[in-house]
Amino acid sequence: MAKLTAQELQVRKNKLLRVMTGHIGAGSKIGMGELYEVVFNDGYQNRINDTKLLRRLITELRFDGVPIISSSARADGGYWLAAAGSELESYCENLKKHALKKLAQVANLKKTALPELVGQIRLELENSIVRSEMKCFICGSNESQWRMTYEKHLCKECWETIERLKIFREKISEERKHGSKRTGRAAPL
Ligand SMILES: [Zn+2]
Repeated sequence: MAKLTAQELQVRKNKLLRVMTGHIGAGSKIGMGELYEVVFNDGYQNRINDTKLLRRLITELRFDGVPIISSSARADGGYWLAAAGSELESYCENLKKHALKKLAQVANLKKTALPELVGQIRLELENSIVRSEMKCFICGSNESQWRMTYEKHLCKECWETIERLKIFREKISEERKHGSKRTGRAAPL
């Protein structure tokens, strides 16, 4: 199969999603070959290479939150959408199990206990959510470099403006104290 553009891939992905919505539940699975033919309007020549693309689109849809279940049973393999209820439940349970296995691997490598690692991840997630929702108190921008003044979050630019204003005020009051004596008249402001 010729190389597809990103736009063509998106079209195929949408088609795949449409086709899959007609196959809900293990009882109405669709075989790999048939699915490929419907999505790409073409029969596959090379089972491994051609279906690689189909599998990639399936993976993308799964990441989008579409619960596509696959069975590789020789006689009875295929794809179907998890039906609401126990099928969807066990699909989610499986995902969680896989995720926990990976986390256990990380815990092992870092020599921490799994619950401790999960706690750290929770904190990281909470912090990143708070950061992504933070806005500069003055200009409302949500850039990522923060400064604190009077317990308010300020973006770097606004913070620097305030700092310059402080320097300005200090200079002015200096000038008022000393400058007025020298010039014999009051400084402006
Ligand atoms: Zn700002």
